[in-house]
Amino acid sequence: MAIAVLGGAGYIGSHTVYELIDRGFDVVVIDNLQTGHREAVHEKAIFYEGDIRDAKFLDEVFHKEKIEAVIHFAANSLVGESMTNPLKYYDNNVYGTKVLLESMVKNGINKIVFSSTAAVYGEPERIPILETDRTVPTNTYGETKLAMEKMFRWVDLAHGVKYVSLRYFNACGAHISGKIGEAHNPETHLIPLVLQVPLHKRECIKIFGEDYDTKDGTCVRDYIHVTDLADAHILAVKYLMDGNESNVFNLGNGVGFTVKEVIASAEKVTGEEISAQTDVRRAGDPAQLVASSEKAKSVLGWKPKFDDLDKIVETAWNWHKNARY
Ligand code: UDP
Repeated sequence: MAIAVLGGAGYIGSHTVYELIDRGFDVVVIDNLQTGHREAVHEKAIFYEGDIRDAKFLDEVFHKEKIEAVIHFAANSLVGESMTNPLKYYDNNVYGTKVLLESMVKNGINKIVFSSTAAVYGEPERIPILETDRTVPTNTYGETKLAMEKMFRWVDLAHGVKYVSLRYFNACGAHISGKIGEAHNPETHLIPLVLQVPLHKRECIKIFGEDYDTKDGTCVRDYIHVTDLADAHILAVKYLMDGNESNVFNLGNGVGFTVKEVIASAEKVTGEEISAQTDVRRAGDPAQLVASSEKAKSVLGWKPKFDDLDKIVETAWNWHKNARY
């Protein structure tokens, strides 16, 4: 029996595939390569190129391969783009998940772990954020992820498909081997953009808003290493295999860093001065997002290994200096 990883050529998906293979799982990767990279797919994984909105394609793969559980990363995930092109997000994220669930039910697959996000909370009612806190997304991306979570809940009740929803905070860093890492085109995430300055790919980093109610006026985020996220997916698959009920977990380090602190860390790691410019706030950005991950620690036994921002930025820097794709 194999684990199907949808979006396994993408950033978090490819890192999860590496960890699964390291631990002896058979892995089937499905990816439409719209934002993923063929080179990021582990050589020991079986690869199918196709779109999750294509029901016939999914049915064929699920019929041919013996799939025990699905890990679902195949979605669009850019806050800014989701505000200018919301229907793209409803189509790929919500409609894509509907097609996927239909195919899972049809093919008797009843376990799924999927990528949710801190963006489901919107402007948080308190810091750190608990899973039971209010969910009022401030952007379309978060809204579509919340719609996906709700779809899973009703499909579990009707068809017994058990799910674990993992609400990631800010995924970052790269595999310690340097073989895979973060590569978005266009890049919109803070750490890769900051590192483009010492790589001479951009002149300066723009800071989106310096007038937030935070310690230095810039947004606070909880940066969590991609390999720690990958570990949590494997623990969640095991949790479902052990027959546990559907559940929702936050995944973060529980410590917030401002945009300026991230820039300072990148200066320390690279040994270069990084010039920054103040820009306007980005639509849909809450001032602070910091997780309480106590539930994932106590229920799943999750222990993030990268708890130091400089170490996380160092893995990202090692990747970006010699990126293969
Ligand atoms: N950010 C920024 N300049 C950039 C990109 C991002 O100031 O060029 C800020 C952004 O407003 C947010 C934080 O950095 O407060 C992290 O943004 P990112 O897009 O990496 O992740 P998100 O929080 O949107 O998931």
